[in-house]
Amino acid sequence: MTAYLLERAWLGDRFHDDVLVEVEDGRFTSVTPGSDPPRAIPVRGLVVPGLADTHSHAFHRALRGRTQRERGTFWTWRDQMYAVAARLDPDTYLALASATFREMAAAGITCVGEFHYVHRRPDGSTYDDPNEMGLVLAEAARRAGIRITLLDTLYLSSGFGVAPQGAQVRYVDGSVGEWATRVEALDGGAHALTGAAVHSVRAVPASELDGVASWLGERPFHVHVSEQVAENRACVEAYGVTPARLLADHGLVRPTTTLVHATHLTDDDIALIGGAGAFAAFCPTTERDLGDGIGPSRRLHDAGARLTLGSDSHAVIDLFEEMRAVELDERLATQQRGHWSAAELLTAATTDGHASLGWDDAGAIAVGRRADLVVVDPASPRTAGAGRDEGTVVFAACAEDVQRVMVDGGWVVEEGQRYDIGLELEAAITRVWGDDR
Ligand SMILES: [Zn+2]
Repeated sequence: MTAYLLERAWLGDRFHDDVLVEVEDGRFTSVTPGSDPPRAIPVRGLVVPGLADTHSHAFHRALRGRTQRERGTFWTWRDQMYAVAARLDPDTYLALASATFREMAAAGITCVGEFHYVHRRPDGSTYDDPNEMGLVLAEAARRAGIRITLLDTLYLSSGFGVAPQGAQVRYVDGSVGEWATRVEALDGGAHALTGAAVHSVRAVPASELDGVASWLGERPFHVHVSEQVAENRACVEAYGVTPARLLADHGLVRPTTTLVHATHLTDDDIALIGGAGAFAAFCPTTERDLGDGIGPSRRLHDAGARLTLGSDSHAVIDLFEEMRAVELDERLATQQRGHWSAAELLTAATTDGHASLGWDDAGAIAVGRRADLVVVDPASPRTAGAGRDEGTVVFAACAEDVQRVMVDGGWVVEEGQRYDIGLELEAAITRVWGDDR
């Protein structure tokens, strides 16, 4: 057992001073505010629970700075993203994902939901182990010291009734049954959990959704929904209903479901997502980068949905920025201030984020939970003078203000021992792009 005295820690309701936490076998065995123990290890700063990044495509990290300068739309960006997907092999993917997950760890992210769809070789054939690429991602998370939920993604078609093309031949499985068999065999280790995803209603025909629903069980289930108006229009044309309604009609909007983006929703969509008590994963820095639009975060919350946050395309990896962006985007959309409290946004980034990834036992500094700690500097150039509470963390801090990170009872990021993440990312991304730099 190890005892730490946290100078000031978020315990779910507010910040408390002098919180004694005892950690054994990677979990908190006691949490006592207002303590003055003689022999606990002091931890200075503002301490919050581990952050959960609920929507990641690790390889998109290679696009940062390269696509932002281009004109176009989501669809022209997607062509550039496919160019990276076409180049990956297990070695380059391991290097890129390891470096990306290290960037996450240093930003206070203790668990990632990896929406994983690059399954096959570039020619569309399967690797000797059809889960090769999923195992690469689990290994990358292990190297970075964080937990991972592999959201192994079903992808069957390019569009409504269109066969997979180009890089998409790497994404596919032959059938729902083939996918389910492969996913059942995927075991990434003790730090990894296997969930499931449907890429989108574009990529899986409605006729296959019942098969997904009946196989799913209690696994975390994620799906891209209504990120683009064109996707909604095509879905209504093909099936006469919106993507959210289509998924609900096939039993796929449930309390274990996370609808990613959920940007362009109807009133009916909001009611059914909220009514199911599902999660909505917002990725504001990606959504702004891609020109997606601003989703109805507060209306979803008020209808009963739980908000989570993701860095998605990794244009930015900073969940502090994602937290405040949810509120600030609402301000732009409504010309009103004060939709989300800092406490609610912190809950989205920690407790609810972990729950949506199937780690109900993480995301809080509480007895029995996994011992994750994120130490935020209250006296950095960003946070100095900005107070010492949740408002400081959500509205002033950024990823660079994270000083130390504990995952499952062990420090994975330490001041003075931080990974040389920049060099590692540079090397990994150079390998992916080769001479086309
Ligand atoms: Zn995505």
